[in-house]
Amino acid sequence: MAYDEQNIFARIIRGELPAIKLYEDDQVIAFMDIMPQADGHALVIPKVPAVTLLDLPPEAAAYTIQIVQKVAQAIEKALDAKGIVLMQLSGEAAGQTVPHVHFHLIPSSIHQLGRHAAQMGDQEKIKTLAEKIKAQL
Ligand code: AMP
Repeated sequence: MAYDEQNIFARIIRGELPAIKLYEDDQVIAFMDIMPQADGHALVIPKVPAVTLLDLPPEAAAYTIQIVQKVAQAIEKALDAKGIVLMQLSGEAAGQTVPHVHFHLIPSSIHQLGRHAAQMGDQEKIKTLAEKIKAQL
């Protein structure tokens, strides 16, 4: 699938759309999901333009997973998370809604996840959770 330069995450990477950011470097951004499936739901995205995990250059995948681990550790500490679901949807058939590869970190049990990308979260609450997570990064 061709990469759409106007997808929401491409626009966040370029700074054209706001995001509640947790972490950013030259290769990766982590930010809060605005329709969380649990409190503390975060996303980690490589900056390289790739639609799915299958398109992602292995070096970018390797680096991104290091940041996924770093953010997961911060979520665990900040929110006293007893478990974290790492989710990655590749392709519309899997339920992917934003066509830029990303990793979900959801402090929850797989059995208690809210519906996917279904309802806007309380932005103030999300910002408060983000501050707590950032403090552990
Ligand atoms: P997926 O369906 O795996 O592509 O996941 C896309 C995720 O991005 C969903 O969990 C959405 O809630 C989330 N999302 C959509 N737009 C934004 C946005 N502007 N900022 C943060 N998260 C978003």
